[in-house]
Amino acid sequence: MKLQKKFMKIAISEAKKGINKDENPFGACIVRDNKIISWAYDKVFTDNDMSSHAEMLAIREACRVLDSCDLSGCILYSTHEPCPMCFTFAHLVKIPKIAFGVFIEDGRKLGYSRDTFPARKMKNLLNSPINLHPGFLRREALGLIRMWEKKRLIKNSLWVNLS
Ligand SMILES: [Zn+2]
Repeated sequence: MKLQKKFMKIAISEAKKGINKDENPFGACIVRDNKIISWAYDKVFTDNDMSSHAEMLAIREACRVLDSCDLSGCILYSTHEPCPMCFTFAHLVKIPKIAFGVFIEDGRKLGYSRDTFPARKMKNLLNSPINLHPGFLRREALGLIRMWEKKRLIKNSLWVNLS
């Protein structure tokens, strides 16, 4: 299963939808046999559910669509390095390959980091066979964090102007 930019671009466009809805700047999609099975953006604030990360929602939907808890033929594309919860979920459903754009350290530098513990370390901790492909379309994925940050600054400056 070769990684394809077009699938990461779907995850990126999902993240943009999320940013437009004042969600966190993350998107994900799951692909099997070059077909998209599921796609999602973060819905933490919409759902008031801290587990509504894009990757979690995409995995849940893929399991529903494929009627299985075994996603061993699938690739997960995520715009951001998965957090420990999402990585563990991917590990449990036997996803063999994850491509992600932004590193946790990248997000932190730009003012956003969902979590402080990288998937790269989770892999070692769980002794997980998941194949990680960090930095896939990283530049485009970084643009999401910048877009989110810009929106946040504009919003904050409006608050300052109004008060
Ligand atoms: Zn997560």
